[in-house]
Amino acid sequence: MEELLVCGRCCGEGRQSWVEDDRWVEDVCYACGGSGSVDPEHAFEQRLGAALDLLGRRKAHAYRCARDEDPEGEDFAFCAAENMLSARDYEEALAMDYSERASRETRDWSRERLEWLVALSEWSWRSPRAVSAEHCRTSSWEDRW
Ligand SMILES: [Zn+2]
Repeated sequence: MEELLVCGRCCGEGRQSWVEDDRWVEDVCYACGGSGSVDPEHAFEQRLGAALDLLGRRKAHAYRCARDEDPEGEDFAFCAAENMLSARDYEEALAMDYSERASRETRDWSRERLEWLVALSEWSWRSPRAVSAEHCRTSSWEDRW
C-alpha cells in the first residue's frame, strides 16, 4: 500500500474553514476529501502550489517596495488608485498574476527542478535570512519577468 502523507491544506484535520461574507464557514477539505491525508504525488502538488503562491507574493511585494523607493516615479498607492484598487488589493492582484505566470513558466520543468524550487521556497520561508547562494540562482529566473 502506498504511503500517505498529511494533507497540507487542512494539516490533517480533514476539514477547513475560511471567512466568507464576514463569517467563518467550515467544510470538508476538498484537497483530501476529509481523510486528512493525501498520496505523495498530491502532497507534492500542494507544496508546489504553495511555493508558486509565495513566489508571487514575494515578487508583488518587491515591486511595491521598488515603486515606493523610486523618487522619480509614481508610488505604489498611486498605481493602485489608477487601477481603482486599494494598495492592499492591488498587491494581492499582482501576487496572483505573478503566481499564475510562475505556474505557466514552470509547467515544462523537470521533476528535479520543481522539487528544488519547492525545497528552496520552504527553506526560505522557514529562514528568510538563510537564502543566499541558491536564491541567487533562482532570482535570475525571477528577474527575467
Ligand atoms: Zn485536507
